[in-house]
Amino acid sequence: MLFFTVYSHAGKKAPVVLSKAINVIIDGKPLPGVRIYKISERANYFSVREIAKIYNASLEWKPVSSQLTMHLNNKKIHIKADDFGVAFGNKLKKMSLPSRLIGNEMYIPPEILKSKEFTEIVEADTVWNPSSLLLSIKHRVNISAVKYFTKLESTRVLIQLEKPLSYTVSKTSRRVAIKILEGKVHRDVLVVNNGIVKDISYDMKGGSALVKINLQQMPKIIKTSILSKPYRIVVCIKHSKNIDTSSTKKATVIPVAEENYVKLPEILKESDLTTPEKYKEAQMSEIIPMIENNENNKDLEKVPVVKFEDKNIIDDTAKDVVTKQEKEKEACYKRKKIIVLDAGHGGEDPGAVGPNGTKEKDVNLEIVYELKTIFDNDDNYEIILTRKDDTFIPLSKRTNIANECKADLFISVHCNASFDRNVNGFEIYFLSEKATDSEAALTAIRENSALGLEKQPIKPIEKNTALESMFWSFAITEYINECSELSGFIYAETIDRLKIPNKGVKQASFCVLKGAQMPSVLVESAFISNYMQESEFSSKKFCVDVADSIYEGVVKYYASKDKKRNNK
Ligand SMILES: [Zn+2]
Repeated sequence: MLFFTVYSHAGKKAPVVLSKAINVIIDGKPLPGVRIYKISERANYFSVREIAKIYNASLEWKPVSSQLTMHLNNKKIHIKADDFGVAFGNKLKKMSLPSRLIGNEMYIPPEILKSKEFTEIVEADTVWNPSSLLLSIKHRVNISAVKYFTKLESTRVLIQLEKPLSYTVSKTSRRVAIKILEGKVHRDVLVVNNGIVKDISYDMKGGSALVKINLQQMPKIIKTSILSKPYRIVVCIKHSKNIDTSSTKKATVIPVAEENYVKLPEILKESDLTTPEKYKEAQMSEIIPMIENNENNKDLEKVPVVKFEDKNIIDDTAKDVVTKQEKEKEACYKRKKIIVLDAGHGGEDPGAVGPNGTKEKDVNLEIVYELKTIFDNDDNYEIILTRKDDTFIPLSKRTNIANECKADLFISVHCNASFDRNVNGFEIYFLSEKATDSEAALTAIRENSALGLEKQPIKPIEKNTALESMFWSFAITEYINECSELSGFIYAETIDRLKIPNKGVKQASFCVLKGAQMPSVLVESAFISNYMQESEFSSKKFCVDVADSIYEGVVKYYASKDKKRNNK
């Protein structure tokens, strides 16, 4: 008896994984607290949690599919538990060792970090030396050098770029901040102390590089200009009084990325600055005198973005300028949601047929038109139909329509059928490789039968290579949470509206949902094989009730998304 007690207690514990501390160097700076884990006799792994910390990634765990998504630089890496495949965005790569889920921890083999795909996403080169237990990461930069030159009456700061990048300049009397959009730089501080400039710090902030020039005294004027070959942002700070330059170095060059720096076709010399021809190619901005009361501004003023091709004078008065990305993000939430409504079957494919000859394709189209009418009265939505009349459309083409118009949702409308004429009820499905139950599997087989009518049938999943089917599973799980939520909201709306049994939310392998690059669901409104239901379908009320439920479900789904977004 005692033996069993001990055993069951120990059995609940996650297996012990041996580990040891390693050295991590990120852009020349050490990061403590990272370990290597011995998963099997010959295989060492990294913990995904620690890797996320190293690369500044956020993690999203999808328990239904045992899949972990790493969000990084607006890109995604999908890692599936105990699977050899890793999806880098849409690109799937097979590793020689599987990712492992032990207890609450996901472990990945070191080869993932060294892969070309990972390197591209993290924008950093990673070297792992197992014998010295050293993991070194070097982020790629496109700001190759920050330099300064001190003269009697002015100090110039040069920010050398590898390509033209847009930037904004904000000023107070004690600081000049240059935000370089999409700029990449390693965090550092260059101490100057020349009587005017205290130091120059550079750092990454929200996808931009931020170069801050901290001043020791209020300058007379500050002007910025741009030069090309190589691309440089020049900040000229005119001193309010001459300073003694004998004690300060005439020029200081801090190479930010040595390799990149020497590769440049032309390395700037101090003499370049005094050559008048050099300034001709520059697009000089207006000289902006410092405004006295800026002293009181705690935050730096925001000014418009300056592009390299921009000949406009910097307008220092504009405030609250949002960057392009912020605007786009905001616009995405505000713009109309595009919903593709798909009336199942059509043309030579009648779908299921009722005892009195009612065809599923006609009922589906009627529900879809009711749905379109309701959505058309709501300015928040734009509706696109996969078919407007009785025509045959191959299954894959239906999702292609949705993908091409970058739809936000894809809703396929169908009627169910059974050999048992007494069966009736509502069901809503979202895509899965495995069906929830045998009934769901049969529904999918019936709905997929249109494939036989297609002139170029799609290869069935079973015949695809293992890698392809793995890719499918990634495509499926990408939106699984959204699909599940949307299904839940629509299902909840049908409970009171439809006076038929409610069979709820299910999952099955529907070809029409495969390849949809957005959340997608398939509605089986009711059983057309049921005598009573067949006559119900001919009454407009049932179709309106189904349409109302779908519409209300969609509205509530978006309301819940908005709420989640606002709570963040
Ligand atoms: Zn159907």
